[in-house]
Amino acid sequence: MHIQAQDLSKIYGQGENQVTALNRASLEIAPGDFISIAGPSGSGKSTLLHLLSGLDRPTSGRLTYDGRDICGLTDRELSAFRRRRIGFIFQQFRLLPVLTARENIIMPLLLDRKQPDETYLNHLAELLGIQDRLTHLPHELSGGQQQRVAIARALIAGPDVVFADEPTGNLDSRSGGEVMSLLQTVHQELGKALVMITHDSRIAALAPRRLSIVDGILSEVAG
Ligand code: ADP
Repeated sequence: MHIQAQDLSKIYGQGENQVTALNRASLEIAPGDFISIAGPSGSGKSTLLHLLSGLDRPTSGRLTYDGRDICGLTDRELSAFRRRRIGFIFQQFRLLPVLTARENIIMPLLLDRKQPDETYLNHLAELLGIQDRLTHLPHELSGGQQQRVAIARALIAGPDVVFADEPTGNLDSRSGGEVMSLLQTVHQELGKALVMITHDSRIAALAPRRLSIVDGILSEVAG
């Protein structure tokens, strides 16, 4: 999957209260890319991630997935597209508290009326070191384990790209380090494109391709 964002802008509010959260951001994401986008709080990271992943629509600009303009899809088409082709990892994990780890992982498939591929599910659980945690409820897991469950959920539908929003932001440095090395392993093993936003330059430095964003302006970091 080749993703191309061209001059994406997002303006919130009207008149005097107008805020340009994102100012003509352009970016190409190739299959298998691992990209970090770093910037301080309020720089436009979440806005960019929401636009790239089709969670929100730009004020102007164009976004294509394999040449197809996804801004032209209806809300219903867009949510089906996201469920099948895009994985998400959030800072706050966002697991459903009444479901077991396994049920949380397969939830995106159930929403699409599909059954899990048990071999793939077991492979993911093994890769993420959560095989013996699958019957547990989220509150019975550590933060790092909850995030690993959330990573499995992001991958279960076999997406082409995974977007991660401050994936270690809610973890202590040791669990955060473990989650980052698992993300690197997953990226190498499964070859999915991975796009991560973070305010932490040490986390950003772990990605082979780095971008930075300041006041809504996106630029590639050399080297
Ligand atoms: P970051 O993720 O880097 O912290 P955001 O993308 O959340 O930055 O925000 C970028 C700018 O846009 C900030 O100035 C923020 O206050 C503003 N902003 C974000 N969302 C909204 C919104 N829904 N309405 C108005 N302003 C917003």
